[in-house]
Amino acid sequence: MDYVKSDSGKQKQNRTFRLVILLLVLVFSTTLGILHQHPLGFKPAGVDAFCPFGGIESAFSLVTTGRMLSRIAWSSFTLLGAVLLLAVLFRRSFCGNLCPLGTLQELFGILGKKIFGRRWELSSGIDRAARYLKYAVLAVFVSLSWILGTLVIRPYDPWAAYHHITSVDLLSEFSVGFGILLLSFIGSIFLERVFCKYLCPMGAFLGLVNRIGRFRVKRNDETCIHCKKCDKACPVNIEVSSVAQVQSSECIVCNECVNACPVKDTLYIGTRKKAKIGAGSVVLVSIVLFAAVVAVASYTGGFEWKQKTIVETTTETGFFNPDEIRGSDTFRNVSEITGIDKKLFLKEFELSEEEFELPIKDAAHREGSEWETENVREFVKKQLGLE
Ligand code: SF4
Ligand code: SF4
Repeated sequence: MDYVKSDSGKQKQNRTFRLVILLLVLVFSTTLGILHQHPLGFKPAGVDAFCPFGGIESAFSLVTTGRMLSRIAWSSFTLLGAVLLLAVLFRRSFCGNLCPLGTLQELFGILGKKIFGRRWELSSGIDRAARYLKYAVLAVFVSLSWILGTLVIRPYDPWAAYHHITSVDLLSEFSVGFGILLLSFIGSIFLERVFCKYLCPMGAFLGLVNRIGRFRVKRNDETCIHCKKCDKACPVNIEVSSVAQVQSSECIVCNECVNACPVKDTLYIGTRKKAKIGAGSVVLVSIVLFAAVVAVASYTGGFEWKQKTIVETTTETGFFNPDEIRGSDTFRNVSEITGIDKKLFLKEFELSEEEFELPIKDAAHREGSEWETENVREFVKKQLGLE
């Protein structure tokens, strides 16, 4: 069949560039998680403060009480703003070009294709029904967080579990999330991005605002040779070869279809007003825009990189919230900010003078200890008459 070939070198370059950006974001995010667990002079904030979904969970609380949910910080709202800014241009570009949990699944998908030389698909009826699951996850966890005023999703969150993979809390506090993380990895070997497709509440949220995006993948039916290479390349099983443009809210803007099409200018990324952009440029603009928003927010104080102690949080907000007590706070921190006598802590948690100066979780995980940080929060609430 005669046709003008795509520049396969450029397509390969685009794919490599996207993978490099995905890996860099993954490494950066993983490093923050490891440093949070094992600080080397600098202790980054916890995983929830670096997740845009935290902004959605905390929005109601912020609007109605002026306070964010425990563990959420301005950085969560900044990231949510950055994700939405990207969405105006490239819809779910965050999912396809930045999200580190998506990257991990994609790596397992690549492994699956290498091992089995193919991927599997659910039957279309089951697949269609299962895709709605993520909207249910979104509705349940956001409404419960808004009603109860806590991060209800935390124990079930595979990304929070990933950030605690080297923590002693992994198999207690994050056991369910860790199970979901493992299932997502194993599932992605066979079905590609299985968590993204069926369970991710952030993906569901971005699917709901999908329509605001200007650019989308378009197909020129006159030059298309119907080889279906685009369909095979799509990690979320969209039949690109049968539509004039990809409108689906499932599209994660990875542009793998564009990079797989063998016919020049047959699949391209464009707007209604006929503006066009290359697949590599979508990745570049996405990462630059995202980084620019984070940089400006960091400069203006809208992005908290560092984990704060309960003393710093209370001094800043002028409000003491016992749920903000972290395992990384020392008993001295808590005693100072609450005014609860040191002797009461020593007696209640059977602490030595030395343990009083240690992070709570270090004392909690000594041999024979039968309490957790949560017990310290409850003790403080009881002592302050907050129960
Ligand atoms: S349709 Fe294309 S851009 Fe969208 S998810 Fe599938 S391969 Fe990626
Ligand atoms: S990859 Fe898709 S759009 Fe490109 S020629 Fe084949 S079927 Fe047509």
